[in-house]
Amino acid sequence: MDKRTIPYVNYPALFNQNEAEFLEVMRDVCRRGAFIMQRDLSEFEANLAKYLGVKHAVGLADGTMALFLAMKAAGIKQGDEVLVPSHTFIASAAAVHHAGATPVLTDSAADHLMEPSDLESKITPRTRAILPVHLNGRTCRMDAILEVARKHNLKIIEDACQALGSQYKGQFAGTFGLAGAFSFYPAKTLGCFGDGGALVTNDDEVASAVMAMRDHGRGPNGNVSCYGFSARLDNFQAAILDLRLKRYQLDVERRRAIGRLYNELLKDEARLVLPPPPDSSPDHFDVFQNYEVEADRRDELKKYLADNGVGTIMPWGGKAIHQFEALQFSEKPENAERMSKKWLLLPLNVSLSDDDIHYICGHIRDFYKNQ
Ligand SMILES: *Cc1c(COP(=O)(O)O)cnc(C)c1O
Repeated sequence: MDKRTIPYVNYPALFNQNEAEFLEVMRDVCRRGAFIMQRDLSEFEANLAKYLGVKHAVGLADGTMALFLAMKAAGIKQGDEVLVPSHTFIASAAAVHHAGATPVLTDSAADHLMEPSDLESKITPRTRAILPVHLNGRTCRMDAILEVARKHNLKIIEDACQALGSQYKGQFAGTFGLAGAFSFYPAKTLGCFGDGGALVTNDDEVASAVMAMRDHGRGPNGNVSCYGFSARLDNFQAAILDLRLKRYQLDVERRRAIGRLYNELLKDEARLVLPPPPDSSPDHFDVFQNYEVEADRRDELKKYLADNGVGTIMPWGGKAIHQFEALQFSEKPENAERMSKKWLLLPLNVSLSDDDIHYICGHIRDFYKNQ
C-alpha cells in the first residue's frame, strides 16, 4: 500500500468541503453587522429544537457552559452530590464542581458508557442528580438510568456533547432529563469554526433562567433578574451551524457507514474489542462521534499507526477522570480502570474515504500479525 497521511481530525476539511457556501454566509453576517444575538442565532435555536423535538434550545458559548448553566438552573449547589461516569471529558465533572457540588464517579459498562447498575451503591442523602454522558455518539441505557432517578427522586442532566442525533429506543440523547448539553467544538459531529454549545430543555423555567444567565442576567427588556455571565453563542457561529444542520443527517449516515466498515474489516481481530456496529441493536441509533476500541498493546499499536501516517488518540490522554491525581478522587471504578489502559480512538470523520479506512485497518491487522 502507498503510504498515506491520515490525521486524527482534518480541521481544514471542515471548511474546504463547502468553502463557497460558508464564505457567502460569513459575508452576509458581517455585512449586516449581525454579530451578537441576531436572527441567525434564533433561527438556529428554532431549527435545533425542531430537529430534537424539544421545546427550547439555547445557544451558548460552549458545551461546558451548557453543562454548568444546566447545573445552576437545576438548583445544584454546595453540599450536593452528582453522579458522573469516570470515563468522560473532565468538563462533565468540572460543571458539577463549579456549581459548588461534588462529582461522585461511577463505572463504565461494556459499551464504555455509564453503567446503570453501578449507580445505586453511590447514592447518598446528598445525591441530587445523575449526569449520564452519551459518549462517542452513543446514548446511555436511559430506561435503567431513569428508573434509578425516579426511585431516588434525582434530576437527570445529560452530557450529550458527543451525541447530537443519537437515539435510545427512538428518543434523542439530550431529551430524557431536565436539560441536555451539546457542544459544537470543531471536532464534534456538528462542529463550528471555533467554540459553541447549546442547552436543550422542555422546561420553560430552565430555558428562561439559562437565557438570562447567558446574557448577564438580562431579559429582553434589559431588566436584570439575576447575576449572569457572558456565555452567548456567537451569531456568526450560529449561522454556520444552521447551514451545517441542514445537511447533518448525511454526515450522520456517512459516520455510520464508516463505523460499519471498521466493524467488517476488524471484527475477526481477537486482540481488539470494537464498539457495537450500527444496526446491531434496535434500541440504539449511534452517530459515531468517535470509534473507540479496546486494543491489546495499545501504546505500541498507536506508535505503529503513527509510523504509517495514521493519527489516533488515547481519549483524554488515556485517563479516566479518577486517575487525575490533582483532583483527589477516592473512587476507583474497576472497569474504567482496566479499560483505560486499552482505549484508543481510530479516525472517524466525514473527510475520510473508504480507502482510508481500508488503509488503517490493513495496518492494524499487520501490526497484530507481525507480533
Ligand atoms: C466536548 C465535550 C464537552 C465540552 O464541550 P466544549 O464545547 O469543548 O466545552 C463536554 N463533555 C464531553 C463528553 C465532551 O466531549
